[in-house]
This record gives sequence, C-alpha cells and structure tokens, in this order.
Amino acid sequence: MAPYWPLVVDNRSVSIGNGACTFFLIDKWWGENFTLEEFFDPNFNPLPFDASVNQAIADDGEWNFPLLGNILPPHISNKIRVILHLDEDSGPDSLIWSAEDNGVFSIKSSYNLLANEKAWVSHMPWVTIWSRKGPEKYKIYFWKLSHDKLLTNKRKSSWGLSPLDCPFCFGLVEDSLHVMRDCYLATQV
Ligand SMILES: [Zn+2]
Repeated sequence: MAPYWPLVVDNRSVSIGNGACTFFLIDKWWGENFTLEEFFDPNFNPLPFDASVNQAIADDGEWNFPLLGNILPPHISNKIRVILHLDEDSGPDSLIWSAEDNGVFSIKSSYNLLANEKAWVSHMPWVTIWSRKGPEKYKIYFWKLSHDKLLTNKRKSSWGLSPLDCPFCFGLVEDSLHVMRDCYLATQV
C-alpha cells in the first residue's frame, strides 16, 4: 500500500466544520483539488506548517484577512473569504473521498483509481521516494523536488512574493536545479 499512499492522499479532501482538525497547509479543504502547502515559506509564513484551519480565524470569528492576504495569492485568499464561513458550532471536520460524487470512500472507486494509475505509477519517482526508509520531511522534500514544487525564489516571484534571484548568487535565477546543483552554496556541500 505504501507506494500508493500518495494516490490515496491525492483523492482525499476535507469537508470543513469548525476547522480544528484540518491542516491549513497540508490538507485539501478549500474547495480546489490542491493543498496550500506550496505557499509555505518558513522564513516568511507566520503560520506554522502544521497549523490547523481555525488558526487562520481572528478573535471575532471571521477569517484573519490580513493573515490570509499575507500568505496567499489574492485569487486564493479571496476565494477562501467568499466561499467558506467557519463556525465553532458546526461540528468537527470530516474526510471526503473525492473519487466518488457522494464523498464516501469505496473499494470500487479506489480499485479503479489504482487500475488506471498502475500502468505508469511504477515510473513515478515518488514511488521510490515514498517507499524509502527515512524521515518524512526528507521524503516530502524530494517529492517536491521531483515535482518541481520546491519553494524557490522563481516560484515565489510568480506570486509577487520575492525577486527571482538566488540570494547567494548575484544575478542567477533560483530555481530547483539551481538550489540542488548550481548554487554556490550547493557546490560547497
Ligand atoms: Zn545560488
């Protein structure tokens, strides 16, 4: 099952209740089929990586608009503001299986997913990554690298959050390859 775990995670999302048991950055909870993890920047983001959704709520029970505006691109923070109203009284969050229209997990739909994926799944680098022993954070790092999802300045600049350049190599763009291979710092390791 371990090699297929990303497939399961990929088709799991959350129906938000009070937001207490759902990870703001790691879970799919805001109505689109991707997480907000890619916007996490440990040097910039005021929310910890494992923050729950209700940690983005202000004392008055409304979304913490300045916080959302700070950490997310406008089109995403605006969507969250408009579509989601958290309520302390609305009960716990619940998991949804997005491979079924009714959101309920079924063996049939998971079998179909696996059957469709199996033809190419063995070629995906994350099969190797996720089946290796080692700290989870390194697996996540290499998974991001293999999907070109590292939080580089090149990516951040596309959201207007940073200049393109590597802070250590004047005039060179900081993309994934630069971080792993070409950067002055990488060559020192
Ligand atoms: Zn560099």
